[in-house]
Amino acid sequence: MRRTPLSEFAGWSMGVHPPRKEGTMTAIFSEPRKNRLIHERIHDAYKPTRKLREPSVCPVCRAVFKGGRWQWLPTWPTHSHREICHACRRIKDNFPAGLVTMSGEFLKTHRTEILGLARNTERAERNLHPLHRIMKVEERPGAVVVSTTDIHLPKRIGQALRRAYKGRLELRYAKESCFLRVNWTSDSKPGASR
Ligand SMILES: [Zn+2]
Repeated sequence: MRRTPLSEFAGWSMGVHPPRKEGTMTAIFSEPRKNRLIHERIHDAYKPTRKLREPSVCPVCRAVFKGGRWQWLPTWPTHSHREICHACRRIKDNFPAGLVTMSGEFLKTHRTEILGLARNTERAERNLHPLHRIMKVEERPGAVVVSTTDIHLPKRIGQALRRAYKGRLELRYAKESCFLRVNWTSDSKPGASR
């Protein structure tokens, strides 16, 4: 099998631990290395099993399916088909495709700033990919958990957090359920170098 890096996830590997001051990132996959490439289309139960008609408009979020992809368009033809997009279906079912769990001392003192970065990352991602969205932000003991409608946004948020605040980033992808779990933690104290 050719090992062409088809997926943006290709190249993640276990045990990659850059120096502590630069933060760390670990990616763990629940499958053999040779099969690590993510084929979301095959395993995502929310992906349509039939070809969507074009143009279709989602009556919930107004994303338009045209040219083989969902996009934000200022207008769409009145005869457009109505098709609830899979991001809206996941939100309705409360069935996320990914989670970002944020924890650590740094979160306690910089919560607003950290959540602002997560929201800004989502806004930029959603502008390009209408189905990549934050579903919920929930408080847990010692952590804040962000759930998403897709498996790409958690990675983007995790990387943005690590880029901005260092800390430790861990990504776990479960191929069989097409689910990405991202954990980010930083114990830096305010004012300390991070
Ligand atoms: Zn929608």
